[in-house]
Amino acid sequence: MKFIITFNFLILLMFYLFYPLKPIIVQNDLILDSTSVIMGGKINGLEFFYPFTIVRDLNDETVIRHELIHFKQMQDSLPIAYHLLYLKYYINNRMAGMDHNWAYLNICFELEAYAKENDKDYLHNRIPFSHFLYLR
Ligand SMILES: [Zn+2]
Repeated sequence: MKFIITFNFLILLMFYLFYPLKPIIVQNDLILDSTSVIMGGKINGLEFFYPFTIVRDLNDETVIRHELIHFKQMQDSLPIAYHLLYLKYYINNRMAGMDHNWAYLNICFELEAYAKENDKDYLHNRIPFSHFLYLR
């Protein structure tokens, strides 16, 4: 009982602390290069610590739109839950026998972001929780 009350309080606190923020887009190669080494491959954008979005090129509209779709996904499910779900979907994909790259590309958050990163109106028209449409 005590645990449940504490947990609900924490969720409410997270909501008030994090939900209303606007994205802050920062250019930083060091963070992206270090993450690229850890994750493998070359990363051009990253949802770092809410509400910070890190990109290599501030003029790259496609990468920024991709990251802002992730930002909206975070606001749907609270940033902490987003990261936990992201990890859960990745692990599920790996357990289903996919390799690292394929498991990453088949996370529903990534499927939505890659499918819509070239759609200029998507950020305005997106319906909350749309990533569930891409859940397999
Ligand atoms: Zn992504």
